[in-house]
Amino acid sequence: KAKADGGGGVRLFEDAMLGRIRARQSMKRDLGAALERRELHLVYQPLMDLGSGRACCVEALLRWDHPERGSVSPAEFIPLAEETGLIVPIGDWVLETACRQAVDWPADVSVAVNVSAVQFRCDSLPLRVAAILARSGLDPVRLELEITESVLLHDNDHNMRVLHALRKLGVRIALDDFGTGFSSLSYLRLFPFDKLKLDRSFVSDIGHSAQSEAIIRAAGEMGTALSMITTAEGVETAEQLAWLRAHGWSQAQGYFVGRPSRSPFIPASAAGETMSRYAS
Ligand code: C2E
Ligand code: MG
Ligand code: MG
Ligand code: MG
Repeated sequence: KAKADGGGGVRLFEDAMLGRIRARQSMKRDLGAALERRELHLVYQPLMDLGSGRACCVEALLRWDHPERGSVSPAEFIPLAEETGLIVPIGDWVLETACRQAVDWPADVSVAVNVSAVQFRCDSLPLRVAAILARSGLDPVRLELEITESVLLHDNDHNMRVLHALRKLGVRIALDDFGTGFSSLSYLRLFPFDKLKLDRSFVSDIGHSAQSEAIIRAAGEMGTALSMITTAEGVETAEQLAWLRAHGWSQAQGYFVGRPSRSPFIPASAAGETMSRYAS
């Protein structure tokens, strides 16, 4: 069939594939130097406490300014960093940078850091987190580690040990992107998470799908019954925020509450005021 149309379509497809593979490989190489070249930085997105209407936590999100490609999305380069193992030094840098930054924030604000499944493979993760906390001087209760269920997919014994060791340091553990994986519910049996972060795909359905609303209600009630803080991500409208508050959710995160930015607390009082506009 390919021959009949001259093979042009096949060749175009192969060229495109090859192009993508080459781009990935060159990005992998560049990522190796990105830390030293200071091309990485963090932006911070607030989580609002729905009771007080104030920022209670700020999530650190990684950004890469590539010299030629411009801003590369973490969705694109985190998988490359995981494949090469670079996620370990990069992840340590993220943790240290976020903890040092958080020391300057109001004392009732914690910082949330995303931790990849690959970082969990190292037995030394809890030791390194402890060292970073000590160096930065951040109170461990102000650090929250966000993991997705991919952390729990393989080698449960090892990962459970690491999770419990982290918890013993006094840091909180959040289950990120809840509801998108294959067995989110069974993971809640494996480990007592401190926080459940509902994926934004559910939140965008509020007001449009009774089915999704029923699921969000049930997830919120389950989280509360399990003594978890319940956070909804991707809140983009006042209507979504009001709905979540009315249904007992503890926290909201999303563009309506605040966009990721380099300095969420400058000036601190102004940030507090912006948030309090949405307080009940
Ligand atoms: P995540 O942890 O679920 O983070 C939330 C993502 O949703 C962020 O995308 C954030 O910018 C975006 N977001 C927040 N509010 C809204 C909203 O109202 N609407 C929409 N449409 N999107 C919203 P971002 O920064 O592109 O990060 C994507 C993912 O990359 C993160 O998802 C996280 O899994 C991963 N990631 C980011 N930084 C790090 C890091 O330092 N380490 C690791 N291992 N992963 C990271
Ligand atoms: Mg996250
Ligand atoms: Mg998330
Ligand atoms: Mg997400």
